[in-house]
Amino acid sequence: MSDLSIDREVDRSQMKISDEVAIQIVDMNKWFGDFHVLRDINLTVYRGERIVICGPSGSGKSTLIRCINALEEHQKGSIEVDGTTLSSDIKNIDKIRSEVGMCFQHFNLFPHLSVIENCTLAPIWVRKTPKKEAEEEALKYLERVKIADQAYKYPGQLSGGQQQRVAIARSLCMNPRIMLFDEPTSALDPEMIKEVLDVMVDLAESGMTMICVTHEMGFARKVANRVIFMDQGQIVEQNEPEEFFTNPQSDRTKLFLSQIL
Ligand code: ADP
Ligand code: MG
Repeated sequence: MSDLSIDREVDRSQMKISDEVAIQIVDMNKWFGDFHVLRDINLTVYRGERIVICGPSGSGKSTLIRCINALEEHQKGSIEVDGTTLSSDIKNIDKIRSEVGMCFQHFNLFPHLSVIENCTLAPIWVRKTPKKEAEEEALKYLERVKIADQAYKYPGQLSGGQQQRVAIARSLCMNPRIMLFDEPTSALDPEMIKEVLDVMVDLAESGMTMICVTHEMGFARKVANRVIFMDQGQIVEQNEPEEFFTNPQSDRTKLFLSQIL
């Protein structure tokens, strides 16, 4: 629970929030069999927001994130992403996946493909971008996450922090309008957390709409405009970071914060 992971200045003046809705979730519920994993979730995310979701293990954070890009199906209520309602209609799902980038704890890079091949796979096969153009784009994003010099290596030859930065670049190659992060630093050694958080700060400064499940409270304080606390499948509390950390309202939030800070 390092609070020191971001030591650079963060320029919040770059991070404008528009009044355009990026994601709208209304009374959403999800079950795994009999298990009611998400309960009455209501959440509106505006374009340009940087939302941090925290909460105890098993509280439903990953499931919520996965519902937003339709990796999991919800059973009740509605989720709208960029004006498209998520339903089992496959066309919608493809549209959502192309607008929403996702980055997981385990980077899920293809081990048998080089860094640049990992980055160009979806643009070439899903977007039908010509190979040369896809490679130029990929190098631009690899540059942006400061790893262009490793473009022709294989994931196994890179450190965890480098692999995670490749995973972020790979998502960016699809030009998403929204990025979802699910504990992107929790599998990393402490010295590599910073290099990944730095990339996420850059992304926030570029105006990307972001939802990040993370327990990096330094990142939440400096970058998020809103922190959401989940417990037992519910959004228990949300607030802007300063207020969230100094003046938590619910006992469950207080207990959680006392354990991680
Ligand atoms: P978090 O990310 O907050 O740790 P998850 O969303 O991963 O929580 O999980 C929430 C709950 O749902 C946990 O109790 C977990 O065991 C359960 N769960 C997650 N995925 C599945 C699944 N595919 N099938 C059944 N239960 C699941
Ligand atoms: Mg999780």
